[in-house]
Amino acid sequence: MALKIQHIDPYRCIGCNACVHACLNDVIRMHRGIAVIQHQEDCSQCFACELDCPADAIRLGVHALPEELLPPFARAA
Ligand code: SF4
Ligand code: SF4
Repeated sequence: MALKIQHIDPYRCIGCNACVHACLNDVIRMHRGIAVIQHQEDCSQCFACELDCPADAIRLGVHALPEELLPPFARAA
């Protein structure tokens, strides 16, 4: 199952640009001051955007994955 960036919440996004700079695959772009997913197919599931977002606006599709396939920081305590 693909674990790519799934959602950027436009109501949480404060337009800081951190996710655009964090993404080495140029997946995210700014549109009218809000981050949007432009090339989801290029997401390499590195989690950099989600970790760098100060507004907790970005979600990768981790919740549909079995626990053992999640990166350590995404697992339940
Ligand atoms: S998880 Fe990584 S590759 Fe995917 S959009 Fe975020 S920064 Fe880019
Ligand atoms: S890092 Fe978060 S708050 Fe900043 S532009 Fe990206 S989605 Fe918006």
